[in-house]
Amino acid sequence: MKTCNSSEKKYDFNLEKAKTIASNLSSFSNEERLEIETKIQKKLKEQDAVMVTHYYVDNQLQDLTLATGGIVSDSLEMARFGKEHPAKKLVVSGVKFMGETAKILSPNKNILMPDLGAECSLDLGCPIEEFTKFCEQNPERTVVVYANTSAQVKARADWVVTSSCAIDIVKFLKIRNEPIIFAPDRHLGQYILNNTQADMLLWDGHCVVHDEFKAFELKEMKISLQGTVEVLVHPESPSGVIDLADFVGSTSQMLEYSKASNCKKFIVATDGGLFHSMRKASPDKFFIEAPTAGSGATCKSCAYCPWMAMNSLGGVLKSLETGCGEISVPKEIISKANKSLQRMLDFTKSNVSKN
Ligand code: SF4
Repeated sequence: MKTCNSSEKKYDFNLEKAKTIASNLSSFSNEERLEIETKIQKKLKEQDAVMVTHYYVDNQLQDLTLATGGIVSDSLEMARFGKEHPAKKLVVSGVKFMGETAKILSPNKNILMPDLGAECSLDLGCPIEEFTKFCEQNPERTVVVYANTSAQVKARADWVVTSSCAIDIVKFLKIRNEPIIFAPDRHLGQYILNNTQADMLLWDGHCVVHDEFKAFELKEMKISLQGTVEVLVHPESPSGVIDLADFVGSTSQMLEYSKASNCKKFIVATDGGLFHSMRKASPDKFFIEAPTAGSGATCKSCAYCPWMAMNSLGGVLKSLETGCGEISVPKEIISKANKSLQRMLDFTKSNVSKN
């Protein structure tokens, strides 16, 4: 594997701040929650708005999104749904790059987020200035970036990919003999490289949640569970964890796999938020979190993204009532980033089977 040297620089992700904000979010009684949900429903109708929500956020937000005609999905489907839905306003619950993606694809829509401070370590670990230098040092390479990047990085890229379409797009570029820069996730990059043997130069970023899954403990867990258990792994996880998987895929692909499989027990290596959709889809099946070695070891996340946890019902209502949390992206960035995103959407429409 060829990698750039971004690992030499240590980024301050300020995880503790995100954790503190998430843990200080108000918890509501059932009555209060119903009252807030009713207010949100009313505001959505009044403002011609729809909710677009990621699998990793709070269960109550996921349920309200579906009950009000929105979508709960991975970032590819969030992008597609937000663009194609006729609503004038999108309330995006997830992390900042998802709100920016919605704005890039729907510049005339009003995009709100419950908390603009919800970031992502992949986005933060790939600052535009350093990434631009890296691209300039390798001008012969096609620039492919993961969706988990800032609008500026997308604007610098030739292609945007998500984990559900990355391998297909890189295979397509390989057939065209295009050497590639891939950023920012080093594990996803290596996984794509292993599956395509494409000529890839990898940025050295990581997701603070998936990077913590532990191969040794996962193997032990599988043995201790005795019997038929399948391991589902997101490709942002370390290669030792991926090697133990029965299935590797994006969040949507893992969800679909768990629905279709005859197996009744799964160990799942991704953010724990996905378990809500998995359990709802397969109430007769049993889902277990893959080990992150616990807080006594090096665990920083314990399989829950602290930024995703900043999304709340209270935040959604506040943004609809006050207009706060509005996403804005400069016009010239929208115009450039739209090209690389649209390439992905066009490609996936005709080349990748939906899961
Ligand atoms: S789970 Fe990882 S990739 Fe997803 S938003 Fe959080 S830090 Fe980013």
